[in-house]
Amino acid sequence: MTVIIVLRETATESELSQVLNLADRIGSGVRRHSPHLLSLTGDLATVDQAVAHLPQVRHVAGVPGQYPCASAQARIGLPSSVRLGDATVGPGGFTVIAGPCSVESRDQLLEVAHAVRDCGAHALRGGAFKPRSSPYAFQGLGRRGLALLAEARRATGLPVVSEALDVRDLDAMLPAVDMLQVGARNMQNYALLRELGRLRVPVLLKRGLAATIDETLMAAEYILDGGNPDVVLCERGIRTFETGYRFTLDIAAVPVFKERSHLPVIIDPSHAAGETSRVLPLALAAAACGADGIIVETHCDPAAALCDGKQALPTHRLPELVDGVLQVARAAGRLTADRRAGEDRELVLAGAPAGPVAAARVVRR
Ligand code: PEP
Ligand code: MN
Repeated sequence: MTVIIVLRETATESELSQVLNLADRIGSGVRRHSPHLLSLTGDLATVDQAVAHLPQVRHVAGVPGQYPCASAQARIGLPSSVRLGDATVGPGGFTVIAGPCSVESRDQLLEVAHAVRDCGAHALRGGAFKPRSSPYAFQGLGRRGLALLAEARRATGLPVVSEALDVRDLDAMLPAVDMLQVGARNMQNYALLRELGRLRVPVLLKRGLAATIDETLMAAEYILDGGNPDVVLCERGIRTFETGYRFTLDIAAVPVFKERSHLPVIIDPSHAAGETSRVLPLALAAAACGADGIIVETHCDPAAALCDGKQALPTHRLPELVDGVLQVARAAGRLTADRRAGEDRELVLAGAPAGPVAAARVVRR
């Protein structure tokens, strides 16, 4: 099985070499993922006996899948949090990312961005590069869309989440985007995942339409093993036999991701719903099932949207959405800060307190 060895942050290079040498003798495929995380294939009891007593070793554990960096055990069961602008996605808060499916025009984006900010959401989403099923459908404004996202960020102060479709666009995206989205269709674009591993920008990794939970975690592993520790998973619905809606929102994936991994998990209710009327109930379900937030599509004029208008929540309904998810998140015990009624909006704006989790963070290369 895959066994991980977590070293203390204080471990020196020579103490690390000592553990690497021992690991080489008792197992195979020894890897150093970061200065403090090693993995190997071997017998858990044998590895434990050989290294657990060493003062530089913090923790030895077997991990069930082929994703040592993403595994819950890599952080000794502590969930991680990921920065998004000035806020964080992770324990203690509930993050709301909202915006249009695609950036269509300056007027459209700025109108939506102001509505997103005014409802107290954390971040603005908006696609400049769109993965469309038909090559003849609107493909996004491309680099002009990035410039508009940068302007919307300046105008509202909101961090921006936008999809990276192609490694060749990354350099142009970095100045405009605070979190790079990997779309469902690109979850298995391993060249893109590897490139994102080399960057130091947070990544929102959407589950593929036909990807299992473990395949999604292995996709995250590409980014983490590359040295980028900031990955948020997104359940956005999978393809099943059901035709009553666009995709089957796999709510059960949220607690399973959280059992298997330390990574934050958010839900995209919009692409699963396929129709506006279903977005709010699915968003409430996200808050109830332990997700760390949602990414939701909204538009000032859904009927005129160039992409995914049928599932766009009109911007005037954003306050209802934010109030609803915060009420449910609080009932589900997510908002840990003891705050008086009415202050939850501020909590959303401020993001989750990162203190104890950040302090316990396992630093990777
Ligand atoms: C999107 O967020 O607009 C999108 C295309 O999402 P997905 O990759 O989940 O289909
Ligand atoms: Mn969309």
